[in-house]
Amino acid sequence: MKVAVLGCGYAGLSAALHLLEKGVKVDLYDPKKRLSASEVSTGFLHPYVGKFPRKPKQADEWMYEATSLIVSIEKAYGKPLIAAKGIFRPALFSAQEMHFLRLSKKDHSIRFLTKEESQKEGFSSFYPGLWMEEGMQVYSKRYVDALLQILIRKGAQFFASTLDDTGNYAAIIEAMGGDSKEGYIKKNKGQTLKIKADHIPFHIPFLSHPHLSKTEEKDVYLIGSTYEKTYQNIEPDSSADQLLIDLRKQTKSNSSSSWDIVGREAAFRAYPLEQKEPLIEKISQKKWLFTGLGSKGLLFHAYFGRLLASKVTADLALHSERGSKVQR
Ligand SMILES: Cc1cc2nc3c(=O)[nH]c(=O)nc-3n(C[C@H](O)[C@H](O)[C@H](O)COP(=O)(O)OP(=O)(O)OC[C@H]3O[C@@H](n4cnc5c(N)ncnc54)[C@H](O)[C@@H]3O)c2cc1C
Repeated sequence: MKVAVLGCGYAGLSAALHLLEKGVKVDLYDPKKRLSASEVSTGFLHPYVGKFPRKPKQADEWMYEATSLIVSIEKAYGKPLIAAKGIFRPALFSAQEMHFLRLSKKDHSIRFLTKEESQKEGFSSFYPGLWMEEGMQVYSKRYVDALLQILIRKGAQFFASTLDDTGNYAAIIEAMGGDSKEGYIKKNKGQTLKIKADHIPFHIPFLSHPHLSKTEEKDVYLIGSTYEKTYQNIEPDSSADQLLIDLRKQTKSNSSSSWDIVGREAAFRAYPLEQKEPLIEKISQKKWLFTGLGSKGLLFHAYFGRLLASKVTADLALHSERGSKVQR
């Protein structure tokens, strides 16, 4: 019994890994015509998303599953995937500061820092904020590559193409992010800037709007990211350059230090139409959808990949049981 997984971003790769662990053979398909959202992602993993974030009820479980998966893949891959542990989130205005302070009283994994504390610890010279100890930043492109390499090592086959003949498969999982079937998702365009900087005078990862994360290359960083609901096409464009201006303003960075743009990247984020959690749905006798990870791809991918794998294997077992009863 074989399952085809279409799409090798966080979603498809996590689903494939969990299927393999359940003893199911997996073929992976991805034509890789352009960078996926998972490759463009700035790699932040934490449960506090949004201007006035609230921690979702299941966030600890999602964090645990995501962190465990990333750590185990890092160990098997043999190169660092975790760029940094702990994320600093500045409070940019007083209502946000009050909100962060309240959050820190309820959740002991985060710490509120006054402006003076933040300055003293080198997080930011200008803002109070949240220190999210359990948050982390991964090198996202390398993580995607590591997941794929490990899947291949474990016996999955990878085809750099779309799937033409569905006949050989017991189930097909469409994990195609922004290319998911119309009518199931809404999407926006996200852009990041790659910059080369000789000196960054504050803590990274710096999670604000815009935020700053590390890359595998020395002195090269990602500034992210835009949320564009209207766009001409998915090609990266210079409208993203505003991110650099905003970050410089926000951090009051000395204009004499060189922060040069060396690249721009863009991809689609896909969101479910109504619910807040990813879409896992059986859409025909053989086909499943796994998409809508939105801006929380890392937080969701491990837990929901496992959930999907359980649903698919339970469904396949049910059908083979029914089939054998009919034969008897
Ligand atoms: C600029 C930006 C910054 C972000 N930063 C973060 C962050 O810091 N932390 C975080 O958690 N999330 C972040 N996200 C969100 C995160 O990237 C997404 O939630 C996640 O990558 C979605 O994963 P996915 O596997 O569903 O889709 P994708 O990663 O887009 O993967 C879909 C794959 O399907 C493939 N595909 C398309 N059509 C077909 C087909 N017909 N057959 C086979 N394969 C096909 C594509 O080539 C692609 O590789 C960011 C997103 C963007 C755009």
